Amino acid sequence: MLRVSSIFYSIQGEGAHSGEAGVFVRLYGCNLDCDFCDDQLHKSVKKQMSFGEILKEIERFPSKSVIITGGEPSIYNLNPFISFLHKYSYKVSIETNGYSFKNIKKADWITYSPKEWHDIKEEGFDELKFVVDKNSPIEKLLDIHSVKPIYLQPQNFENEPNMENVKFCIEVVKKYPQKFRFSAQMHKFLGIS
Ligand code: SF4
Repeated sequence: MLRVSSIFYSIQGEGAHSGEAGVFVRLYGCNLDCDFCDDQLHKSVKKQMSFGEILKEIERFPSKSVIITGGEPSIYNLNPFISFLHKYSYKVSIETNGYSFKNIKKADWITYSPKEWHDIKEEGFDELKFVVDKNSPIEKLLDIHSVKPIYLQPQNFENEPNMENVKFCIEVVKKYPQKFRFSAQMHKFLGIS
């Protein structure tokens, strides 16, 4: 059983898989309480669902890509659920703040989005993503040595882009092209969930 906030079908708007259609499974709960968190939904909706019940919802859509998000998915041991989805030929991607890579080690793709920049883990993920506003201390990120891509993503409003932060991120990426890439949160530009 998992505590689920919502299951919906959309386009990935962030990181390396931007543009791919996938089924998003948003899990309830997080170990942190960031003041910029725009996902109040994961805190307010909670439904206990069995793996089979979740699969039934996922199968309503044509994509074989599942993105597990939150909240913080890795507060749960998701490896049994990931193996279950693999049996039905789903590719499973997970977005985590790094709480527990052990709990998601069977995932096909892990996006690591650290919220505490002084303690950045060095392995266990496929891409790094930092949520940035125009006052963020970017210099703290310059020392990170990662063979995995590092995305800067503007801290946007809940349903639309924050153009000040967008422009700031773009300028930083242009200044350090070997270091960073830009992740737009494309869905907020398109006005879709
Ligand atoms: S880690 Fe993510 S989901 Fe958790 S409170 Fe922070 S922004 Fe929200």
